[in-house]
Amino acid sequence: IFITFEGIDGAGKSTHINHFAGKLKEKYPAKKIILTREPGGTDLGEKLRTELLNQPMHPETEALLMFAARREHLAQIIEPALMMGDIVISDRFTDSSFAYQCGGRGISIEQLNILEKWVQGRVTKGDVFEIQPNKTFLFDLSVEIAQQRREQTRTPDKFEKLDIHFFNQVRNEYLRRASVFPNRIKLIDASLSIDTIRDMMELEASFL
Ligand code: C5P
Repeated sequence: IFITFEGIDGAGKSTHINHFAGKLKEKYPAKKIILTREPGGTDLGEKLRTELLNQPMHPETEALLMFAARREHLAQIIEPALMMGDIVISDRFTDSSFAYQCGGRGISIEQLNILEKWVQGRVTKGDVFEIQPNKTFLFDLSVEIAQQRREQTRTPDKFEKLDIHFFNQVRNEYLRRASVFPNRIKLIDASLSIDTIRDMMELEASFL
């Protein structure tokens, strides 16, 4: 099973990942649970992450590097784990690219569709299929509240310094994708209390 957590910076997805992983472990004690993140997840991916989060660059370069890191992540971590029947939980995946690089940075959806097909498409015995998460939890929160939470909790990276307008575009692209993929993407109201969301996530874990 491949599960991803998504949301704008400050929505709180990272807070809930560990607890959720723990619940899945209780449910599937015999299975290995792999917690990973994007950009990153591999040595090369983490190096690319450092550049991506600190170095100003052209939006297309940014998109290409995100997908380069993802290709390595799939090859080294995600695909081997799924082949073994393990559970993979990733803090961000391709929905982030659509939200940030298309919604935020203005790359066209058509261009990202090409990269997605390239990086996630596999051909087996003449059939083409795309590696996609089985389930995605989208932590949705107003941009203003997310900004307040960020200011209280951390030093901002390159993206987190961007303005309300940028994050509104990112959020809108996330919400658009949630309406296009309603079976895969489950919206979580991130304005609720941590305890309430934790209970909701426990319930979600019991469905998997
Ligand atoms: O979720 P996390 O804080 O680890 O994300 C790292 C940063 O990279 C965030 O500021 C996020 O906005 C940004 N990012 C991005 N495009 C992606 C993935 C992450 O701009 N495709």
